[in-house]
Amino acid sequence: MRPLVATINLAALRHNASVARRCAPERKLFAVVKANAYGHGVREVVTALHDEVEGFAVASLDEAAEVRALHGVGRILLLEGCFAAVEYQYAAQLRLDVVVHSERQLEQLLASELACPLNIWLKLDSGMHRLGFAASQLRHCYERLKGAPQVAELNLISHFACADERGSEQTEEQLAEFLGLLDLDFSHRSLANSAGVLTIPAAHMDWLRPGIMLYGASPFADLSAAELGLHPVMSLRGELLACRELAVGETVGYGAAWQAQRPSRIGTVSCGYADGYPRHAPSGTPVMVAGKRVPLVGRVSMDLLCVDLTDAPEASVGDPVELWGEQLPVDEVARCAGTIGYELLSKVTARVARRYFST
Ligand SMILES: *Cc1c(COP(=O)(O)O)cnc(C)c1O
Repeated sequence: MRPLVATINLAALRHNASVARRCAPERKLFAVVKANAYGHGVREVVTALHDEVEGFAVASLDEAAEVRALHGVGRILLLEGCFAAVEYQYAAQLRLDVVVHSERQLEQLLASELACPLNIWLKLDSGMHRLGFAASQLRHCYERLKGAPQVAELNLISHFACADERGSEQTEEQLAEFLGLLDLDFSHRSLANSAGVLTIPAAHMDWLRPGIMLYGASPFADLSAAELGLHPVMSLRGELLACRELAVGETVGYGAAWQAQRPSRIGTVSCGYADGYPRHAPSGTPVMVAGKRVPLVGRVSMDLLCVDLTDAPEASVGDPVELWGEQLPVDEVARCAGTIGYELLSKVTARVARRYFST
């Protein structure tokens, strides 16, 4: 077995759900588990959160079917709605809550004959300009859907573009757009992603949609997960496979991209970009070897990466290595690689074994 494992701490996951709960007591939670629960494994995450949340949110019908098989009763929200007319039948069979964000979806819904009516979430484009109706259009959709035989509840949903920048003017404007529609008689309202849950009480509404915070990473550039009271859920752990001494001028890895400026001790680690470690992480990105922070050196290759152990002379072959997790925040590695924790977590590939524990 290749020594590389993503350990997943389900107790930390539940702790993070309780942080969301405490931020907004009395509200309901859709735990966002799209993209295989941000890479953590949807089955185990749904099972662990089953009794902690009122529902789950996913990106597609097959993700929804997987969650429904595990969670017979709760609500499951299809965040982008249906992608084809035929999907409304399946959505009704699975008893999903379905977003409607476009005229096309609206027409397909109204042309469907369903076994049972659906809970519909009309999506307002409050400023993200990605999916959804403008406010005036949404009022028109509301009138068309109110009382339609395909519709059980009629609800309102929107999504923030800049909630991760605290005090953003855009967020205020989006909130005002949303509030401007609340004269309509919606059954439920939902606006807050993790950033909204953590810092925008006025956006909490009826249903929260936390994603990244559940996994113990921060939605903010300037506020760490630890400062938010969140616990990391995934630790990506490998092993030191080899060590060697390099003379001044010798190089490491593909393209000979890193060159020793001093006599150096180089370690080779059992993790590469085919595991989901970012290939663009530059020399200097931190890696934990036996609990000590050392710098990545040279290009990340498919199965391996190298670190400079010159200042960690006690490190030896077989030592445990943490690429990110309990000892090294994923957000810090992401920042070095010019991305966000979301991307690193959700891109851990299938060949990396996930190992679950709960303490
Ligand atoms: C992914 C997603 C979320 C969760 O966002 P986080 O920033 O991970 O909390 C919430 N709402 C929608 C519509 C999403 O697509």
